[in-house]
Amino acid sequence: MNFSNTYVCLDEVFYEKTRPTPVQAPQLLLWNPSLAEQLMISNELKQDPVALAQAFSGNHIMPGSEPIATAYAGHQFGHFVPQLGDGRAHLLGEVLDQSGQRLDIQLKGSGPTIYSRGGDGRCAVGPAVREFIMSEAMNALGVPTSRCLAVVTTGEPVFRESILPGAIVTRVASSHLRIGTFQFIAARDDHQALKALCDYTIERHYPELKEDGPNQYIGLMDKVIARQIQLIAEWMRVGFIHGVMNTDNTSLSGETIDYGPCAMMGKYDPRTVYSSIDTMGRYAFGNQPEIAQWNITRLAECLLPLINADTNKAIDQVGPIIAEFPDRFKQAYMEMIGKKLGLTSFQQKDQKLIFSILNRLKERSMDYTVTFDRLTKSLMSEALASEVKNELEEYFDLWQKRLSEQRASPREVQDLMRQHNPVVIPRNHHVEAVIQACEQTGKATLAENFLQVLRSPYEELPETSLYQDPPDDGDEDYQTFCGT
Ligand code: AMP
Ligand code: MG
Repeated sequence: MNFSNTYVCLDEVFYEKTRPTPVQAPQLLLWNPSLAEQLMISNELKQDPVALAQAFSGNHIMPGSEPIATAYAGHQFGHFVPQLGDGRAHLLGEVLDQSGQRLDIQLKGSGPTIYSRGGDGRCAVGPAVREFIMSEAMNALGVPTSRCLAVVTTGEPVFRESILPGAIVTRVASSHLRIGTFQFIAARDDHQALKALCDYTIERHYPELKEDGPNQYIGLMDKVIARQIQLIAEWMRVGFIHGVMNTDNTSLSGETIDYGPCAMMGKYDPRTVYSSIDTMGRYAFGNQPEIAQWNITRLAECLLPLINADTNKAIDQVGPIIAEFPDRFKQAYMEMIGKKLGLTSFQQKDQKLIFSILNRLKERSMDYTVTFDRLTKSLMSEALASEVKNELEEYFDLWQKRLSEQRASPREVQDLMRQHNPVVIPRNHHVEAVIQACEQTGKATLAENFLQVLRSPYEELPETSLYQDPPDDGDEDYQTFCGT
């Protein structure tokens, strides 16, 4: 790989130079050929599964890689922890992809670091496969996300509630700068390092801000807010529940990162939460926008000294931008649902119809993905139209009436709806079944079949129908666990 590392140029307070702990018997379980292409991995390496397993387990450190574990803090479920950091991950370095974009290459499950806090630094094969499948699905759905290049089994056991096979996942992200990274340095009152981190972030993600001089830090807030709004609206378009929206899991680039107890909502209900540790429903589906705003406010607190040396003035500057968040989000959200309903342009008066339809889904426990897929298909099928009309009743007629006011043909409306309504999502029960198969057989055949379908989420392939069914029990007892 062609490494070109910049994070290591920051002060060493931001990381520990540390190597992955070698594993006994690494074997490649999952590989992502199109991402490998994008990263311009050499043919020689690509064709050698043994070398791939060595490289992406951390047993062999590739030339140019300078492994580090990064430091960060974070609010976990609302409680501040001043030092978290990569306790089981190693950032191997950065590479420039085919289009010149800088990407982090990180191993997760690659052994302990100074940030492990008693943890073993390892990852079980289940959570590794889960991250691979979920991030690949999200990427294909068009949601900004980190991706996975490989899952390598280690040949070593990891000890959780039971003994599980261990694995290492290679994660590729446009950076691992988190709100928690800023909190880490702000908590140390190190003005110079804080400024260096902000300048680094601007250079890497928002270089256009450099021209704004002293206003660039307020500009940074604005950009991060815009990306978070887009991201959460996209999550809500496809029914994604992140599960642990702690500030350390919130990326400055606006990508989905840290796939832990994430899940997909089946039946539409904003209160849906599956994570076993989220007993209060803090990170429930419908809370995600509010939490994003809460997290952004934590970022703003860190940036105050850079925005203005006078704290009160800094608050006056940044306060209004944060206060605008709910309205900005609502606009993005309404436009998004509008497109799911085939509205070529959202108008304020559409809100009532949108809320009525969503409310009907909730009252009747209707599946989110299935319903929008059926609505999409109903435009070209009278039989389906009458079925959906039975479910939505008067709102179906109001929707049809609203569509008839547009100039677009049914075919055009259907095309628009199809772009925003997937035919298949990584449903929880299928993800679990595939993970179990990987654990039990040590083979990824079922995962590969599933991935093939998930990579075309807006298209019905011959195999797609195998994965479209909502769970028999409506995911009533479904629980996800933190990937530790
Ligand atoms: P996560 O829930 O993956 O976002 O992790 C939260 C924090 O716990 C991070 O600092 C992780 O590095 C750390 N952590 C999670 N699992 C382990 C583990 N098995 N060993 C060491 N650190 C861990
Ligand atoms: Mg995390």
